[in-house]
Amino acid sequence: MTEPTAADNCIFCKIATGKIPSRKVYEDEDIFAFHDINPWAPVHFLMIPKTHIASMAHVGHEHEALLGRMLALAPRLALEQGCRPYPEGGFRIVTNTGAEGGQEVHHLHWHVMGGPRPWLRG
Ligand code: 5GP
Ligand code: ZN
Repeated sequence: MTEPTAADNCIFCKIATGKIPSRKVYEDEDIFAFHDINPWAPVHFLMIPKTHIASMAHVGHEHEALLGRMLALAPRLALEQGCRPYPEGGFRIVTNTGAEGGQEVHHLHWHVMGGPRPWLRG
């Protein structure tokens, strides 16, 4: 079983701070978005909070504003990255949580996927 990664040894914390390079989609004070290194769909990027939250299972009331901002931002970024507009186009948001949820990187992230089908996965 993969144990949750401490913030000081977290690959997505390092991506958010630029210590590990990524193809950036968006950045502000609290949120970072970047292309998935192994895309399942024609559009596939990840949205993360800059602060280390291990998973959706670790979310509390103190994160409501941050997650609300991320959710409101997702549709705009999806369109900017090439997803066609709703309803013909659209996108999928997935957040794997824990081992049985299929989570591999233990820093909260939302997969935002879209583009013409078929997709590799999902
Ligand atoms: P999970 O399985 O935890 O939901 O998804 C982790 C995702 O992170 C995978 O889709 C994987 O391709 C992506 N990923 C893992 N390491 C890196 C990396 O170093 N850079 C980028 N851009 N994506 C990564
Ligand atoms: Zn982290």
